[in-house]
Amino acid sequence: MSEATKVMVLKPRREESVLRRHPWVFSGAVSRTEGEPLPGDVVEVRSAHGEHLGQGYYNPASNIVVRLLTWGAEEVIDGAFWRRRLAESIARRAALAADAATTAYRLVYAESDGLPGLIVDRYGEWLVYQSLTLGMDALKDEVVAALIEAAAPRGVYERSDVDVRVQEGLDPAVGLLYGEEPPERIEILENGLSFLVDVRTGHKTGAYLDQRENRRRLAAYCRDAEVLNAFSYTGGFGVYAAAAGARRVINLDSSADALALAEENLALNNAALSSAAAEVESIAGDAFQVLRRFRDQARTFDVIVLDPPKFAFSRRQVDSATRGYKDINLLAMRLLRPGGTLATFSCSGVVSEDLFQKVVFGASLDAGREVRILERLAQGPDHPVLLTFPEAAYLKGFICRVE
Ligand code: SAH
Repeated sequence: MSEATKVMVLKPRREESVLRRHPWVFSGAVSRTEGEPLPGDVVEVRSAHGEHLGQGYYNPASNIVVRLLTWGAEEVIDGAFWRRRLAESIARRAALAADAATTAYRLVYAESDGLPGLIVDRYGEWLVYQSLTLGMDALKDEVVAALIEAAAPRGVYERSDVDVRVQEGLDPAVGLLYGEEPPERIEILENGLSFLVDVRTGHKTGAYLDQRENRRRLAAYCRDAEVLNAFSYTGGFGVYAAAAGARRVINLDSSADALALAEENLALNNAALSSAAAEVESIAGDAFQVLRRFRDQARTFDVIVLDPPKFAFSRRQVDSATRGYKDINLLAMRLLRPGGTLATFSCSGVVSEDLFQKVVFGASLDAGREVRILERLAQGPDHPVLLTFPEAAYLKGFICRVE
């Protein structure tokens, strides 16, 4: 590297995680910087002995001061580097791209794709760009240019409005970055089913793409069933259930807007159904309260989906989160007819699959029901977990038979 090299030197014995190719350097591991790196600059990371370990981008305002981009041999981090990383990321989704029945999926999943802090989701002909870090913000123009070159979208819309940006000292950024404004609702296909997605105001970048394969798996349990889709958002699981021949679909969510879109999504697909359309009910309310009310009314269901929002954002919140998961799972088990199906999820990264299974076990004991896990579920293949970065795994779920 040139004499302008900016360097971050680690404290003695703090190089271990970098040698294991973990992409984060925490502020506590840093001894000093050399060459006066500015926020967002690419720095060379060295051990206390001066050994070159890798390169990454720097943000002194964050607890994660460096996000590593390379390990071992030095590389030139320029436009060509970013174009290469994006092309590799897109190539890993070739199977999804070739599937005409699915037009919405994640193209870039941050650290797992060697592009820390960057999320790119495809919704039909539009891409939604989301930057989580200062380093990625600094690269916005280069990344967007590379995306246009690699994916030829009709437009690129920015949804950098997630809370984690606060930890990087960043304000939200939202709006069109390139090309045509997306329509108010983009119509996408997922496993052959149609959905309307509002990329401007929808959750995440517009939809929960991570549940695509799990919705398909659940569909197999829904023929002739009465399905309670709790935490339905815009009705994803409900649409699959209806298409698979459910008798009745009840979407339950605290958001009236989400429920309205869920009804539109059901109507959109019902029209294309050969079998009789499912009866549909929408219930706006707090799932904890509504499930208690159903219990008091002795209402029962064949299938219940529980896909609540993230309950735990840090280790400190794990205990309260597990209480929430246990409560809702216990309530759901009591509402299931014998031999019914419970599809239960947790998207809290700090709650492991093992812990989640224990929580569901505890709920089954208290409910007095015998429960078997039939299927173990996780986030879809477009949200891969790089083995050097296990933090990328967050979604876990079980399809259970409840006797
Ligand atoms: N299953 C959905 C995603 C669910 S996201 C899908 O496949 O697309 C979680 C949803 O829970 C959000 O729509 C949010 O509005 C809703 N929610 C959050 N807290 C809730 C509560 N206490 N009761 C009911 N719904 C709630």
